[in-house]
Amino acid sequence: MAKMYYNNDINEGVLKEKKIAVIGYGSQGHAHARNLKDSGFDVVVGVREGKSFDQAKEDGMTVASVKEASEQADVIMILLPDERQKKIYNEEILPGLAAGKSLVFAHGFNVHFDEIKPPADVDVFLVAPKGPGHLVRRTFEAGAGVPALFAVYQDVSGNAQDVALAYAKGIGSARAGVLETSFKEETETDLFGEQAVLCGGTTALVKAGFEILVEAGYQPELAYFETLHELKLIVDLMYEGGLSGMRYSISDTAQWGDYVAGDRIIDAGTKDRMRELLSEIQSGEFARGWIQENEDNRPQFDAITEKEEAHQIETVGKKLRDMMPFVNQR
Ligand code: NDP
Ligand code: MG
Ligand code: MG
Repeated sequence: MAKMYYNNDINEGVLKEKKIAVIGYGSQGHAHARNLKDSGFDVVVGVREGKSFDQAKEDGMTVASVKEASEQADVIMILLPDERQKKIYNEEILPGLAAGKSLVFAHGFNVHFDEIKPPADVDVFLVAPKGPGHLVRRTFEAGAGVPALFAVYQDVSGNAQDVALAYAKGIGSARAGVLETSFKEETETDLFGEQAVLCGGTTALVKAGFEILVEAGYQPELAYFETLHELKLIVDLMYEGGLSGMRYSISDTAQWGDYVAGDRIIDAGTKDRMRELLSEIQSGEFARGWIQENEDNRPQFDAITEKEEAHQIETVGKKLRDMMPFVNQR
């Protein structure tokens, strides 16, 4: 069993004396900043003027520019989009990154793929919640938490691990469990998970199911409920009780269908292609492609986004969700 850390294993005192800069106030940024503040830590949010800046002010946070926040703080958590971190780090964060400070990430991408090369005299670690930022905040407010990984890349002070764990406790993750990893393991598994299962695999499966039903003449609204809406309800059961817990709740007919159909959809060929994704992640090929796509100003990213947003499952879904205000929490 991996070693897990929970609230009682962690002394947050080491972080209480320090000032924390949360750089970026997006999905993860707002959640980390607000949870840390509510946990009694000294937090300054570093953002440029605009939407995030206004939101942080409205939420009652202390706000500064990225440069000022980096200068002021002892612990600097970078919660900017991965593809923009290198430039902002070099121009606005590095000048304030004096010896003895901590440089922190929520994903190892830039350090692992050598885009950001931290100076030798600072602690470097990551605290990566295993869930979307909005849920890091929502579960915290509900008294719960999203599990997280932590990894120490560089330990100059000798207490990088204690600071990392205190940070994880501050955002509520040690209520759910915190697990030690490395930058390499976090980066590769995170990219694989989102590509093969959580995002890429799931959206492709949902769309394929929806399209097949609609092409066969079934009502699009029904197809939406069947392939997208109900997925959440099934996943909630998996989240609570694993695969067996989910199967306990569904009918025996559904369970039998699960057994006889699942392997025909995800077969050995699918697994071979999943292994291909993993090796492209491990070799750095995926990262190089994504960095290049950004250097080219995202031609494919924008074209695919436009096409995906126009898909019938999106137009049908929007109408149905508008009638379910309880679904639309964000
Ligand atoms: P978002 O895209 O949600 O937020 C980005 C933030 O960065 C915004 O506040 C944005 O402000 C700000 N920003 C962008 N460009 C600049 C700039 N040039 N100068 C100053 N501020 C800028 O990012 P995420 O929260 O999704 O991701 C942050 C990190 O967390 C990444 O490393 C990601 O891999 C990691 N992570 C994300 C997860 C998630 O749930 N999304 C899950 C686990 C890890 P503005 O409003 O001004 O554009
Ligand atoms: Mg992830
Ligand atoms: Mg990710």
